Amino acid sequence: MKSYSAATAQLRRRLGAKVVVTDEAALHEASFDSAKIPFRPAAVVRVRKAAEVGVALQLANRLRVPVTTRGRGTTLTGAATPVRGGWVLDLLALDNVKVDEEAGLAHVGAGARILAIQQAAEARGWFYPPDPSSKEHCTIGGNIACNAGGMHGGKYGVTRDFVVALQGFLPTGEWVEWGTATKKFSAGFNLRDLWIGSEGMLGVITGAVLKLIPRPPERWTLLTSFRDEAEALSAALALFRARVQPAICEFLDRGSVLCAERATGKEVFPGQSGRPVILLELAGSAAEVADQRESVLAWAQAHATAHRAAQSREEAEQLWAVRRKCSGAMFELGDAKLNEDIVVPMRNYVKFARFLARLKRDSGLHIPTFGHLADGNLHVNIMYHKAVPAECRAAEQAVQRLMETVVAMGGSISGEHGIGLAKSPFLRIQHSPAQVKAMQAIKHALDPRGILNPGKMFEVFEVWRHPRLEVKLPWDHK
Ligand SMILES: Cc1cc2nc3c(=O)[nH]c(=O)nc-3n(C[C@H](O)[C@H](O)[C@H](O)COP(=O)(O)OP(=O)(O)OC[C@H]3O[C@@H](n4cnc5c(N)ncnc54)[C@H](O)[C@@H]3O)c2cc1C
Repeated sequence: MKSYSAATAQLRRRLGAKVVVTDEAALHEASFDSAKIPFRPAAVVRVRKAAEVGVALQLANRLRVPVTTRGRGTTLTGAATPVRGGWVLDLLALDNVKVDEEAGLAHVGAGARILAIQQAAEARGWFYPPDPSSKEHCTIGGNIACNAGGMHGGKYGVTRDFVVALQGFLPTGEWVEWGTATKKFSAGFNLRDLWIGSEGMLGVITGAVLKLIPRPPERWTLLTSFRDEAEALSAALALFRARVQPAICEFLDRGSVLCAERATGKEVFPGQSGRPVILLELAGSAAEVADQRESVLAWAQAHATAHRAAQSREEAEQLWAVRRKCSGAMFELGDAKLNEDIVVPMRNYVKFARFLARLKRDSGLHIPTFGHLADGNLHVNIMYHKAVPAECRAAEQAVQRLMETVVAMGGSISGEHGIGLAKSPFLRIQHSPAQVKAMQAIKHALDPRGILNPGKMFEVFEVWRHPRLEVKLPWDHK
């Protein structure tokens, strides 16, 4: 890895030693994200003011220093790992949040955490729906860069649907604003949407204007269980056909339920142990919820083996806590996980359930799966043991087969995590050569020296061949 020591010394002269940090602890912390594949940077730039980003990028361009932008490093794909070394821009200090009560907009700094944005909105009767499970930790900059989703996607949409305007810097270090703090804007090319989901490769976001919606006053939670996965997925289709739009509709297959049960020592659904479940929540005005509740209860009666409505907010929270436990609990099935956030079109739900059953049988691996049924985004977790070569090979083959199948079914290799390093071997399954060439042309036009987050997306990186750090992160229990 190049040291970039002369360039770093120049940057330190410009921004000061408090901003440009090179101590071991800081370099270690910035060397990896939740994928835990470390690459050492030359310096961490702890940005205090947006203008410092421009200074760093202009110098990086002149001296050809790779730059990787970092929110909180919760990405599971390795997208925030500085694979080419160079400088890591840490934007956590840009964490301002201001709600415009009349316009229903939030003005936020890139480093603001999602939970802080939601709390500020709620305190004023507004609601910011995108809710990744990592929301206590992850930043809006990272969410916009990955077009993050979460459980609310089906009814409300994902991060993209709530971004009104963006401010930041082009890779060349020039300041830009895409859109204004108005809900309508139709002046020129829409580069705001090009930045959303661009994984820190087309620009650095320093601030955003977000759309809010009125906070739904009423919520109602129902747990349902099913004989098998195909029945659960087919039942979900019946629910959507009945024009019910749950705010959340979470599916846990048998493997996920068993993991949650072992982790909590309790049955997810008493008397229905080990059966796949759908946990759903209605949200809206009291009248809306009451109206949909009737349809949902009739649906549960007709399709589920059992159902139970939460009697209180506390009971509902306990049910959601079980859902959150299942992912971390999977590590008892293997010490390595390929966590694939694929998307399947609803019309292929039952076909996909049958495919997953075959994949589990053929690979001999545990592949617990859970996900968001209202938008087709399923988290398929291929578990294996790193020290067992046969399991590593089986996992590698299983992920390849999974990606080919979801694309053949008209779905996507990623619904919310993005490509980064982890999905780079599969980009060309999703996209034709012409599509990849168009994306690369845009990258080259905006970042002619290729300094911003290099080595990601277009270059194939097989994560399963790389050693991972044995570290526990604050969000690892989730
Ligand atoms: C326990 C857990 C649960 C999760 N659950 C979900 C979930 O439900 N839904 C979901 O969508 N994701 C989920 N994730 C993934 C992750 O939290 C999201 O991808 C999140 O958007 C990353 O935000 P971050 O601030 O940590 O960004 P980072 O991980 O630091 O960065 C992610 C990418 O964004 C770029 N980036 C960061 N900030 C900026 C910026 N200001 N300008 C330009 N580029 C930038 C980085 O360069 C990198 O490419 C989960 C992760 C964990 C660990």
